[in-house]
This record gives sequence, C-alpha cells and structure tokens, in this order.
Amino acid sequence: MPLIDLRSDTVTQPTAGMRAAMLAAELGDDVYGEDPTVNRLEAWLAAELGFAAALFVPTGTMSNLLGLMAHCERGDEYIVGQQAHTYKYEGGGAAVLGSIQPQPLDGEADGSLDLARVEAAIKQDDFHFARTRLLALENTMQGKVLPLAYLAAARELTRRRGLALHLDGARLYNAAVKLGMPAREITQHFDSVSVCLSKGLGAPVGSVLCGSAALIGKARRLRKMVGGGMRQAGVLAAAGLYALQHQVERLAADHANAARLGEALLELGYSVEPVQTNMVYVQLGERASTVKAFMAERGIAVSAAPRLRLVTHLDVNAEQIEQVIEAFAAFRSF
Ligand SMILES: *Cc1c(COP(=O)(O)O)cnc(C)c1O
Repeated sequence: MPLIDLRSDTVTQPTAGMRAAMLAAELGDDVYGEDPTVNRLEAWLAAELGFAAALFVPTGTMSNLLGLMAHCERGDEYIVGQQAHTYKYEGGGAAVLGSIQPQPLDGEADGSLDLARVEAAIKQDDFHFARTRLLALENTMQGKVLPLAYLAAARELTRRRGLALHLDGARLYNAAVKLGMPAREITQHFDSVSVCLSKGLGAPVGSVLCGSAALIGKARRLRKMVGGGMRQAGVLAAAGLYALQHQVERLAADHANAARLGEALLELGYSVEPVQTNMVYVQLGERASTVKAFMAERGIAVSAAPRLRLVTHLDVNAEQIEQVIEAFAAFRSF
C-alpha cells in the first residue's frame, strides 16, 4: 500500500515528464550567467508575472530573504503578519542576516492584514524609530486566497506611504487557479514576488524571486553572499520550468480533493475550517496526540497538531482521499 502523505505539498516526487525535462536540460555555469535553462526559467517567469527580471534560488526562504534585504537597509523595518512564513518560519533571517526589524501584526481570519492597522503601525520619520520600509503579504495564506480588491488597496496604501510591497507567493499558483485568473492579476500589485516551485507545483527544488532589474541585481549579489550561487543549476530549473508549463492547471484537482475531504470530515462531525485551496485544517484538540500513530497504521502520514493541517498534492488521488475519509471515520469512534 503506497503511503498517503498529507503532511505537506512539498513531499511530491518529480513526474516522468519532469524527469525527462531535467535529463534533457542544456546546462552551463549559472554563477557566470551561462546556464541557458536557468536563464530561460528566469525570463519566462518574469514575463509571465509582469516583472523586468527574476532570480532562481534554492529555497523560498532564500527568495524571501533576498527580497527583504534588497528592499531594506540595516535599521529598516518591515510590517508582516504574526503567522507569516517570512516572520515565523524562516529562522528570523531578515533580522539576523539583514538587520531588518520586523513589525509583526495579528492577521485577520481571511488571511489578510487589516490595512488600517498596517497604516497605524507605520512609524513617523523620527530618529527614535526604525524606518518602516516595506509591507510583506502572503498568498495563499494557510490555504486562503487574498481578494484582488484587498491587494489593490494594499498597493494604494503602500504607494501613498512610500513603502515597498512584497508577496510571499509560495503558493501563488494555488491562488491564481482558485480565482480562475492569470497569476499576473495578483502579482501586478507587488514590487517583488517570491514563487515556490517545490510546493504544489511539484518540482524537487527551487524558488524564483521576481522584481525590477535594479532589485534583482541587488538580490543577485546577496544570493552569492548567502551561498546561493549554484553552477549547473539548469538541471533544477528545468524541473521548475516544466512545473510552470505543465503542472499549474492540475492544481484544481488538489483543490477538489481538499474540498471533498473537508466536506466529508465536517459530515463526520469534525470541526473543519472552510477550505479554499489545497489545505484542510481540522481542530482535533486533545485527540491530536493519538492521530499520528492511528493514521500511520493505515498508511496515512499526518503531522500531529491540535490544529491539524492536511495538504493535498499531485501524489494524492481522489481514491486515496476516500481512504483518508474512511480512516477519519474510524478515528472518530476509536
Ligand atoms: C514553504 C514556504 C516558504 C519557503 O519555503 P522553503 O522551504 O524555504 O522553500 C515560504 N513561504 C511560505 C508561505 C511557504 O509555505
């Protein structure tokens, strides 16, 4: 019985078509700017998302870090959500490596940051204060899609107050597919966007930072500094390019599987948060301590947490979702 791994959408294996693309990739030394496949990926995604330039990096953590460091100098500040990946899950990199002070704010239920509270948090020009320089948003945020009107309002606010606007778009394409719109409809509002190729898109490695030519020039220097300059990286970029060109539309299947799972768990009496994309959050409370072992016995991998996150992806099919539903039915009466 193959393992049904619902811990994350990062656990996927490269598909046959992706492996073929990796094998066939034309390669060069990307630190010299000579890897044709990396160059193709960067040019392709920059054009698709409406930016002048892009930079291929090993991880989303590095992509966000370079974005923040390219926008902010030492002693600058960025406004960010308490639960945002850049703030909470990246080892404090912006502060440690960039000397950029975070100003975290509590997020709203829909995944946004209240813009009135963002504006109130912008510090005056006063030598007592760090210089507020940037607002960082995340989309999708724990599976939730930020409304386009909200993004336009965030753009208006940041322009008016002279801040840059960065998007952690690790799952940008889940948001775009859910909205049924080109990703550019989302990214048009931002000065920089980080996109993960190794989440739902299914590539083994890689993220891309998009922005202006000047910003990406700065980020390229910083990438070398933090050890992210890779050589024949086209073997990885080929996987990313394949994912972008062949594995975006299929995200709708992951969303359908997550919706089916969420509805079924709700019918079984579980407390389930509304599902928008490929994540199902279930409140398990005290029962969280036993769920991992119970599911493991049935060939299902989950992370034990009182607010359990179940993530669908290209290596979980609709039939397996039915198996998961049966297992949760059994867990209820266990
Ligand atoms: C996964 C993720 C990242 C970056 O992750 P890496 O593991 O460093 O590639 C950034 N933001 C969000 C929202 C993520 O889910």
